[in-house]
Amino acid sequence: MDNLIYFDYAATTPVRSEAIAAMLDALGQFGNPSSRYEFGREAARRVKEHRDAVAEAFGCSPSELFFTSCGTEGDNWAIRRGVELNRRRGKHIVTTAIEHAAVLETCKELERQGYEVTYLKPDRAGRVAPEQLAAALRPDTALVSMMLVNNETGAILPVPDCAKAVKSFNPAILFHCDAVQGFLKTPELLAKLGADLVTISGHKVGAPKGIGALYIKKGVRLPPLVTGGGQEEGLRSGTEATAQIAAFAAAVRAGAADSARLERTAAIKEYTLAKLKEALPKLEVISAGDVPHICAITLPGYKSEVVVRVLGDRGVCVSSGSACHKGRPSHVFAAMNLPKPWLDGALRLSFSPDSTREEADTLAAALRDAADSLFTTLS
Ligand code: PLP
Repeated sequence: MDNLIYFDYAATTPVRSEAIAAMLDALGQFGNPSSRYEFGREAARRVKEHRDAVAEAFGCSPSELFFTSCGTEGDNWAIRRGVELNRRRGKHIVTTAIEHAAVLETCKELERQGYEVTYLKPDRAGRVAPEQLAAALRPDTALVSMMLVNNETGAILPVPDCAKAVKSFNPAILFHCDAVQGFLKTPELLAKLGADLVTISGHKVGAPKGIGALYIKKGVRLPPLVTGGGQEEGLRSGTEATAQIAAFAAAVRAGAADSARLERTAAIKEYTLAKLKEALPKLEVISAGDVPHICAITLPGYKSEVVVRVLGDRGVCVSSGSACHKGRPSHVFAAMNLPKPWLDGALRLSFSPDSTREEADTLAAALRDAADSLFTTLS
């Protein structure tokens, strides 16, 4: 679409040119990494190099990183097989009420199978305290799943302290972290997570959709979710998605090499928030976001789905919450106990290092026009 003004980088990102080039190259080298002849061995060598690159950016050993098809698969694998691995400990899981659907729906499915799940409630800023988690742990707790960065508020959850609290309660409890929105956005934190299992996803960092990875800490004997030909050291079967893997590594290398990307992203978010407040005095900031690329705002009393549609008609893309909700009110903002008019008008804005001031100005003007032309439930 021409003249697309895109402020929804937490939903997905454009595929980086480096990733497209790497993908095309890998499509030419179409060998199967499991084949024994040289053409196949070359494909396997390339997958190894790409794994090394992603592992280096993540801060783990390549032997701890397993490619998956997406973040959702990583979350499912970690939680479903994590509780299975720890089944002798008991059937209690702790997570937060603000996780992505990939975690929440998996937990709900496990509840139907007899597990008991404690959902920690966030405060008004969308954060969960380590003390809350510590108080929820029980002798029968098998697994804790806590995201690093909330995809709707941009709040960073205190995962390192929470992992410490869990391990000092009982080192056998598995700690899983969904770091899909934190990967390449919180580099220092990622190395210190202290988690046993960590999920990341390619399409949030300039790779195409259809690729992700699960970090499995050395020594954690997580059973596979996808069984078959024994690829990925027998832990994730399925012929390696060589082109997506190549693109993932290229996107990660290019992203990591751009050392000023986080400052640029933070600066454009700050500029945009200032512009929006100037253009719309009634606008409230729900969360300015701890990470550079996400914030949440609200136009109290307006219907955010309608605002999103009106902006979309002008080529301006924002989100009324996670793209996965499809019109349902955001469970994240609801869990934060926001007043109803704030909930109704909640919008998520998310940024890239390449977002521009001109785009921000267009967003502010379009949002002001939308607010002028739409009714609110408040007068
Ligand atoms: N976890 C979080 C926090 C996310 O934001 C997303 C995607 O929006 C996912 C998991 C799912 O990742 P994927 O789209 O790769 O399945």
